[in-house]
Amino acid sequence: MNLILLGAPGAGKGTQATKISERYGLVHISTGDIFRANIKNGTTIGMLAKSYIDRGELVPDEVTVAIVKDRLTWDDCANGFLLDGFPRNLFQAQELDKFAEIDGVVNINIDFGLLMDRLCGRRVCKECGESYHVSMLNGKTTCERCGGELYQRKDDNPETVESRLKVYTEQTAPLIDYYTEKGKILNFTGTEAPAEVLFEEVKAVLDKLKR
Ligand code: AMP
Repeated sequence: MNLILLGAPGAGKGTQATKISERYGLVHISTGDIFRANIKNGTTIGMLAKSYIDRGELVPDEVTVAIVKDRLTWDDCANGFLLDGFPRNLFQAQELDKFAEIDGVVNINIDFGLLMDRLCGRRVCKECGESYHVSMLNGKTTCERCGGELYQRKDDNPETVESRLKVYTEQTAPLIDYYTEKGKILNFTGTEAPAEVLFEEVKAVLDKLKR
């Protein structure tokens, strides 16, 4: 099963991605994670991506598409993959159509009013990527799941979040229509309820889609 996870920044894609990939044995491919790993390792791609990410803009398509195209040729993708954060515009979606077959697009709709606080208060585990809201941590600085150190992403600040939400509205949201027309969209509503609640709904739909 090859899936795409679509939704605004802060909609809860990362948390659902972990749960979906675990349940269905899919490789979780997050372009944001790939860029952050490249930045950490000081690679050429990392140095290029950093300036865009820090401004909340998209990394150029030719770089991003090439990374995903290559990643999907790895053996571990043979049993299925989950793309998280890709495609992010129409061009990327059209390119993806040339080298991959997609079974479904999990789209998490969310009230935009929730996102600024969610993102600016987000703390992420350096080891496993689990995310938390600072208001729930009671001063704790380590991950409940794996004990890893929690950090705040550099792009989770008000100015960059504003730019990321604008990019989402203008460039990524049109993908909902694109995949609806293809009959691939699976719509869900992200809420303030625990991620488990949303995952139950996602599971019910994906269990039927499973091939
Ligand atoms: P994310 O972790 O998905 O929120 O992505 C963080 C940042 O990485 C985004 O704001 C973009 O700057 C960059 N990025 C991630 N995925 C893509 C993509 N598919 N195309 C272009 N830029 C991306």
